Amino acid sequence: MATRTASSLSASSTVEDYLERILELINSKGYARVVDIANSLKISQASVTNMVQRLDADGLLKYEKYRGLVLTTAGETLARNITDRHHLLSDFLTLLGVEEQVIHHDVEGMEHHISPETLRAIQALTETLQRQPVLLAKIKKLSHAH
Ligand code: ZN
Repeated sequence: MATRTASSLSASSTVEDYLERILELINSKGYARVVDIANSLKISQASVTNMVQRLDADGLLKYEKYRGLVLTTAGETLARNITDRHHLLSDFLTLLGVEEQVIHHDVEGMEHHISPETLRAIQALTETLQRQPVLLAKIKKLSHAH
């Protein structure tokens, strides 16, 4: 959007990346610690601590230095939303036969910028293509032809 500045856009992508990773850690390990988030996002623990304190101040999580952190209802809603977008886009590109590494790279960018409207269109397209193997094969053949 034209009125949105680059910094506010990247800030919200960062918040979404954190929440996505935190939910992933909680789902797989039962908890998320600063050290785990730092390893997962490949950034310093100091940066993670700063960001986690900001997310705490924004009411998206509760942070206790020695006990790790938990997502608030608002934080969990945002985290589930970004995770759903990630899976939907990932399923779509997988269906089209895009390489796994490319999917990962593209989805991590796309998921932050896509509107609900476009996402619904992609979801409808994915569901339709899943029922049209002949058309799907044709699309895959054309997109891998060069
Ligand atoms: Zn993602």
